[in-house]
Amino acid sequence: MRHAPRSQNQINLAIALLAVFLTAACIITGGRDSGPEKPSPSASPEDSATPVAKKSESADSKEDKGDFKVEYAKLSSARYESLDKKVRNERLLENAAEELNRALKLPEDVYLTARDCGEANAEFDPNTQKITVCYELMERFYNLYRSDGMSSDAADAKMFDAIRFVFLHEVGHAMIYNYNLPIMGNEEDAADRCSSYINIEELGEKGVKAVLAAADGFRIDSRRESRSKRDLADEHLLQEQRFYNSLCMIYGSNPDKYEYFVDDGYLPEERARRCPQEYQRTVDSWVNLLAPWRKDK
Ligand SMILES: [Zn+2]
Repeated sequence: MRHAPRSQNQINLAIALLAVFLTAACIITGGRDSGPEKPSPSASPEDSATPVAKKSESADSKEDKGDFKVEYAKLSSARYESLDKKVRNERLLENAAEELNRALKLPEDVYLTARDCGEANAEFDPNTQKITVCYELMERFYNLYRSDGMSSDAADAKMFDAIRFVFLHEVGHAMIYNYNLPIMGNEEDAADRCSSYINIEELGEKGVKAVLAAADGFRIDSRRESRSKRDLADEHLLQEQRFYNSLCMIYGSNPDKYEYFVDDGYLPEERARRCPQEYQRTVDSWVNLLAPWRKDK
């Protein structure tokens, strides 16, 4: 669940910050060499998400014994003062906690925090029940986008989008642990899909932008990465795979709307044709797993 960088040149974009950024969210990796170019969020107009049943018929209801709570930490360095101020002033964590508390029951309190950590990371720690997004990770995203030629303002906006994806990836780990959810397969991939599901289904266009921003981060990051044994052995999928998986989720949510992913060469046709089913299976799985913990009826 910890997402420290696997190598100096690599960020682990895997986790999501929040809907915290709830209006804000694991990250995407891009095709590294001849891979797809950066998809443009502007090309994705309206939210296409189709309403999905939020409750399974057979769900046993659970008791609500906890809340998502916000906890701030004292900064260790002045470097992140303005970022910290922005997060606090815009009540990004509080807004995220509110949204999550409106939707979900918890067996115990889970704490949300954003701070400088000394490394570009984001994590859910089951021992402290704390979801932490490090300012260094936000800065890392910003620098990635800047290195790809984006303006300062565009990189800043995209960073907050990507962090929403990261935040929700971490929320995914927190739910898997606290709800004791059965995960058959790789938990990191499950957390990525959880983030994609919540973003695309629940947050509309903002959510799609979060998944796209993360995808872009994966894409840019993968370009400068050389594969090592350590990367291949890591529990996270390779950045390129996360890039394609993220595009597949978005495309699968509405193939007509995102047809340009295939037409413009971002997503290979062979993968794209199975994405609608792949997406629906992801949504159905998470809807059913979360049903007993949903507050909305
Ligand atoms: Zn993770």
